[in-house]
Amino acid sequence: MRATQAIIRIDNLKRNIRVIRERVGKGRLICAPVKADAYGHGAAPVAKACLEAGVQRLAVATVDEGAELRAAGIDAPILLLSFPMPDEYEAVVSYELAPLVGDRELAAGLERVAAALNAAGGIAVHLKVDTGMGRIGCPPEEAAKLARFIASLPHVRLEGVATHLAVSDSLKPENIQYTHEQIRRFVCAVDAIKKAGVDPGVVHAAASGGVLLHERAWFDMARPGVMLYGYAPDPALAGLLPLEPVMELVSHIVYIKQVRKGESVSYGRTWTAPCDTTIATIPIGYGDGLNRLLSNNYSVLVKGKQRPVVGRICMDQCLVDLGKDGAACEKFEKVTIFGAKPAFTAADMAEILHTIPYEITCNINKRVPRVFEEAM
Ligand SMILES: *Cc1c(COP(=O)(O)O)cnc(C)c1O
Repeated sequence: MRATQAIIRIDNLKRNIRVIRERVGKGRLICAPVKADAYGHGAAPVAKACLEAGVQRLAVATVDEGAELRAAGIDAPILLLSFPMPDEYEAVVSYELAPLVGDRELAAGLERVAAALNAAGGIAVHLKVDTGMGRIGCPPEEAAKLARFIASLPHVRLEGVATHLAVSDSLKPENIQYTHEQIRRFVCAVDAIKKAGVDPGVVHAAASGGVLLHERAWFDMARPGVMLYGYAPDPALAGLLPLEPVMELVSHIVYIKQVRKGESVSYGRTWTAPCDTTIATIPIGYGDGLNRLLSNNYSVLVKGKQRPVVGRICMDQCLVDLGKDGAACEKFEKVTIFGAKPAFTAADMAEILHTIPYEITCNINKRVPRVFEEAM
């Protein structure tokens, strides 16, 4: 096995799901977003574990992601969160993905394809209302008309109505107010759909931010993504619920050497030893998704101690200063990059990089094998 691995703790994933279920109540559906390869954790194994833990639905962003889950033998309902291209409609129908629909063209296109394929029972869709995210979805005042249009299509079934909140993870008063306004618009749209004589089906709005801060956004189903993987959507919300990181990124020391005071390491000679020290080489670099901006700007965990990454991070390797007492560390010692106490978390790394933990785990790329661990 390669020295560098992403250990995926299925137990923690299932524990996080229990915490989320307790929060939103047993009566509500939970939809697990497993887009972007389950935020980098491995879509099919994560999806299967979510279903084992009682999650009722999955969500993907692309048709290919949906096809991958079907190929893995998953037959649970899958929501398609991004709008497909016309030449993908056929795959949407045949893989039985339930797309978000925000305009007539998409609904009519799916009707055409579902009719041509003679899809049994037609295709389920969720009407997407744009209440203020400004990304995809119809304006709230057009929701009822679009719902009626969908209801008129013989091969398209309205299974739900959804919206997405832009600042639901923020504690700023103006953002809480904006979220309340989005929820108000959404409720109006859903009411108008009902008044038009159409059953809205499963009504849903809350991603992780909504689950943590806005009970009024819970409706019939929650779609918490980043929380499944053990992180709050915003650092200010960390600790509100007892979530555990699912991914631990590890590597191993493959080389150790003594470096004298004044000697430099790695490209660009950006770090020079301030005193005699021990330097370890770790076979992980930006080619694995370890951001190069962490050069001279991060610490990893070796034998219970934080040790600085020194010199530039290379494509395949980086260097760690084990310090004067580094002699106590041996070759092939395990190194935790993030995700296991007391190492940094992906949220800590995100803060250093001015980004969010989502991007950190998503960016750990294909070259890093995912190793799934579950206690029996
Ligand atoms: C990604 C996504 C989610 C999950 O968001 P988190 O912030 O990870 O909880 C929910 N709904 C939609 C529409 C999304 O695109």
